[in-house]
Amino acid sequence: MTRAQKTLKGRTLYIPQMSFEGAACMAAAFRSIGIEAHPCPDSDAHSDEMARRYLSGDECLPEAITLGSFLKITGMPDYDPAKTAFLLPTSNGPCRFGHYLPLAKKIFADRGEDELLILSPTSSNGYQDIGSGARELMRTGWRAVVVSDILRKMLLKTRPYEKEKGLTDRIFQAALHRVCTALALSDISHKKRMQEILVALTASRDAFRTIAVDRSKPRLLIGIVGEIFCRLNDYSNSHLIRLIEKSGGEAWMSDVAEWVWYTNDEEEKRLLREGRRFSTSMLVARIRQKVMHRDEAKMLALFRQDFFDYPEPRHITQVLDLSRPYLPREGAHGEMVISVGKAIWYQRHGADGVIDISPFTCMNGIVCEAVYPRVSEELGNFPLRVLYFDGLQNNFESDVEIYMELARHYHQKRGAAGG
Ligand code: SF4
Repeated sequence: MTRAQKTLKGRTLYIPQMSFEGAACMAAAFRSIGIEAHPCPDSDAHSDEMARRYLSGDECLPEAITLGSFLKITGMPDYDPAKTAFLLPTSNGPCRFGHYLPLAKKIFADRGEDELLILSPTSSNGYQDIGSGARELMRTGWRAVVVSDILRKMLLKTRPYEKEKGLTDRIFQAALHRVCTALALSDISHKKRMQEILVALTASRDAFRTIAVDRSKPRLLIGIVGEIFCRLNDYSNSHLIRLIEKSGGEAWMSDVAEWVWYTNDEEEKRLLREGRRFSTSMLVARIRQKVMHRDEAKMLALFRQDFFDYPEPRHITQVLDLSRPYLPREGAHGEMVISVGKAIWYQRHGADGVIDISPFTCMNGIVCEAVYPRVSEELGNFPLRVLYFDGLQNNFESDVEIYMELARHYHQKRGAAGG
C-alpha cells in the first residue's frame, strides 16, 4: 500500500490528549464526518517506558508522551495497523516540533507497521488524507477547540471553590459528554449544529452555576502560560493545576484558541510580506477568520457573566503588542511571544503571578526564562516563574508552595498600593 492510497476510511483515529477535553471534542468533530475517532488512552509509567525504548532521551517531553500513548494502543488486543490512524500535526517551525512526525513514521516503519496511517492534515494536499468531509471538519474542529476552552475555563474557575469535593469534575465530565454529542452529530448543516452546541453549552453552563461554592476565603489567581501540550496535558505537568489549587490558588489557563488566532495572524503577515494583499489567499484567509470569529462570539456570549472577571484579548495582536518590548514578533516566533505577552496581560488583569509550564530543554521556555526577569522587575517584581517538566513525575509541591508565598506577597503589596 503506497502512502498516497492511505486514507482514514475504515480506520479508527486516535487523537493525542493535548488536553483530555480538547482531544474528546476533536474526536467528536471527526465522528461528525463519519470517522471513528477517540482520544488516545491516558499516559502512565508503562506508556513512558514503551516510548523510551525508541527514544534517545534528547526528544521533547510532548513527543515522548505522545509516542507512548500511540504505543499503548498497539498493545490493545484488537490493534490492527491497517485499521488504525494516529493524529500527529506537524509544522516547519523553528523548534523540534517538526521532528515528531518523521520520527514517529520511522519508528512504526521499523516495527513493520507500514500500514498504519499517521495523519498530519495539511492544506498543501487539500486535506486529502481526511477525505471528502475535510471542509466540514475544519469548521466543526474550530468549534471543538472553542467549546473545550470554554468548559476548561468553567472547570478551573469553579473547582477551587466547590463545597462538595469532586462535584465540579463530575459536572465537567457530564458537560463534556453533552457538547461532544452535539459536535458529533452527522448529516446536519453548520447552522443546525451550532444550535445544538449552544443548547448543550447552555445546559452545561447552568449545571456549573448550580455548584455550591465558598468564596469567603480569597484565593491567589495564577496565570498559566507556556508550551501548549505540557501546560494542557495534566500527566506531563505532574497535575500542576491541582497542586496550585491545593496550595490556595486558582489557575487561569491560556486557551488553545489563542494559538489558532496567532497562526491565522501570522498567515496574514506572511501574505503581506509576499506582496499578496489583494490575492485569493488573503481573501480566503479573511473570510475564514470572519466565520471563526462569528462562531466563537456566539458560543462565548453565553458565558459573558461567568467570564466577566477573566477578560481575554479581543485580538491576538493585543498580546503580541505587550510582548513587543521584550520579544517583537518580527524577530521571535511561536509560543514564546505569546507567553510573554500573555503573562503581562494576566498581570494587568488581576493575576497575582504567572507560571510558565515548559518541557525540559524547551526552546520557548528557555527564551522566556531569559526575558522574564526584566518583565517581572518592570511589573514591580511580579512573580513569574518557569517550571520545567521532564516526565520523571517529580514532586513539585515545595516549588509550588514557595512560589505561592511570592504570589501572596505580591498580592498584599498590590492591595496595599491600591492596585
Ligand atoms: S515547543 Fe518546546 S517542547 Fe515543543 S517541540 Fe519546540 S522545543 Fe520541543
